[in-house]
Amino acid sequence: MLEYLGLSLLVFHFAEPAYYYGYIKKNCCRTRNPEEDKEDPPISVIIPTYNERDNIRRKMRNVLESYPQDKMEIIIIDSSNDGTYDIIKKEIEALNLKNIRLIKEEKRRGKIFAVREGVKLASNNIVILTDADAFWEGSLVKAIKVLRGEVGAISCIKKATSSLENNYRDFYNIIRLGESSIYSTPIFHGELTAFRKDVLKPEEIPNVGADDSTIATLISLKGYRAICTDNVIATEIVPKGLEYFSWKTRRGSHLIRHFVRFFSKVVKSRNPKFKKIFVEEAYLHVINPWLLIFGLVLIGVSDPLLLIILLGLAVVASVISPISKLLRAWLSNQGFLILSQLYALRGEVIAWRKEKK
Ligand code: GDP
Ligand code: MN
Repeated sequence: MLEYLGLSLLVFHFAEPAYYYGYIKKNCCRTRNPEEDKEDPPISVIIPTYNERDNIRRKMRNVLESYPQDKMEIIIIDSSNDGTYDIIKKEIEALNLKNIRLIKEEKRRGKIFAVREGVKLASNNIVILTDADAFWEGSLVKAIKVLRGEVGAISCIKKATSSLENNYRDFYNIIRLGESSIYSTPIFHGELTAFRKDVLKPEEIPNVGADDSTIATLISLKGYRAICTDNVIATEIVPKGLEYFSWKTRRGSHLIRHFVRFFSKVVKSRNPKFKKIFVEEAYLHVINPWLLIFGLVLIGVSDPLLLIILLGLAVVASVISPISKLLRAWLSNQGFLILSQLYALRGEVIAWRKEKK
């Protein structure tokens, strides 16, 4: 009896996201494209930095070549103690940059404080937050053109420097783009989070770890769309070895807390399309991983041989099946989601230890 319950949990664990993926694919790109601006609007790019001496030069050049110089202001809010500040100063002089402001924080307080400070200082309506360890390809100009009318925020799709992370990204990028074309996605990326100050004021952004997804969700709650676009692809540097574990767990915990924080607000809101997407994502991040664990435990308790057969099949499928890459990424991600939930119980981590990359 118990093994049937266990098997049902396993089937549901895989079938529910597969159904959602099908729903996304079916509805993807049916809605009309957002209207485009004819001109390139002025933007303010905000880069929070904490010990980024190995990345900051490349980052500055990458940002500078992504948008017309006369339409762009760059604000760097730095709290490093590794010489990043001096590197930026030298680079500003070497390139003779006029459109850049460098602010030194007296004390490191966490990324969210730098983000709010930067948005307050920004003199343009369109602000872009971007992490120093991520690099853009594609067309920021095209992406920014849709940030008007009903669109309150945009983000990018992602690539990573590790293959396991990329297998997971291939699947999640499609989900982000599909949710965006249906209405909004509640998950944004710190590699590119662009939004309008006339829609969201800096004082409205709370003290959280996941500033990106918080901005997307707040903007959707205000009745605007927060969408990911494939016009910009951001590559982020992924830590290796044990550092990868702590990185995934810390970031996962930010996202878990995000879903818990906004759940009742979204459920009470009057936007059925966004509600459906948010509730599904909250389910996938918070509940669905446990079905896998409980399913396996129930089967193991009632029929250990069946458990061994299933685990053997899973190992074979994740090595030689046509979906082996996705399966490996999916299974490891379930493990990280469980760890992230346990980690999230410790509270909000605002100023995190920097993982070695
Ligand atoms: P991850 O992308 O979630 O792994 O987080 P990172 O450690 O890469 O941080 C994202 C961005 O915020 C990077 O540009 C960091 O340098 C920056 N950052 C992180 N913590 C702080 C902080 O306490 N103060 C400031 N000013 N920037 C920070
Ligand atoms: Mn990063």
